[in-house]
Amino acid sequence: MSGPNPLLQLSSLSKVYREGGAEKSILDRVELSILPGEFVVLLGKSGSGKSTLLNLISGMDTPSSGDVRLMGQSLKSLSEAQLTQIRRQQIGIVFQSFNLIPTLTVEENVRLPLELNGRKNFEAVSDLLQQVGLLDRRRVYPDRLSGGEQQRVALARALVHAPALLLADEPTGNLDAHTGAEALNLLDSLVRQRGGTMLVATHDREMRARADRVVALVDGRLVPS
Ligand code: ADP
Ligand code: MG
Repeated sequence: MSGPNPLLQLSSLSKVYREGGAEKSILDRVELSILPGEFVVLLGKSGSGKSTLLNLISGMDTPSSGDVRLMGQSLKSLSEAQLTQIRRQQIGIVFQSFNLIPTLTVEENVRLPLELNGRKNFEAVSDLLQQVGLLDRRRVYPDRLSGGEQQRVALARALVHAPALLLADEPTGNLDAHTGAEALNLLDSLVRQRGGTMLVATHDREMRARADRVVALVDGRLVPS
């Protein structure tokens, strides 16, 4: 009997960077399957390849060999335009440094993924701003917000288009413990309790404790932790 189809499947995924004349192997035949609704934490010390792995999944970078399948579809079979489309529709990303656009208001930042997807209905923007507790700040610019507030805007932006997969790259790395815990609670209520799927690179202990599964990058290989 086969179980449910994985939402994300990495097969023999490798990444080699060339530096000067030397080749540097960052990811070495990584295998990973994530089922719909799973919350997987990715560990690994600094420089171990966590961001590289997330970038390969989101299609922002291409593997040296191996494959990424998202909802059964092989990313390497897609054209650049198709890749952009699947990334915009099916993936939400939260970064350690928030990456909000400084010249756009809070509301405009959160609306952007909908606009990029050609959507005309922006109701989800205020819904999400309400859920992250920032509806009353919707007209301000990101530089007026605290780090924790900026990360909540980034989370709203990552979820506004209802992506199939949320990727987060050390989302609490720039937050203090209390603010980080708030961000984690939001991930829990906005993603997990709604059956969403997420892969989070983090060192956060509380996040590790709440994950369904923890994996770690060690010398380029992905191992259970
Ligand atoms: P982590 O997110 O776990 O800290 P990264 O994925 O950022 O690790 O980096 C893994 C390794 O790959 C590091 O040694 C980094 O210097 C190297 N690296 C990342 N991007 C490039 C690049 N574009 N060219 C060469 N080396 C890179
Ligand atoms: Mg990183």
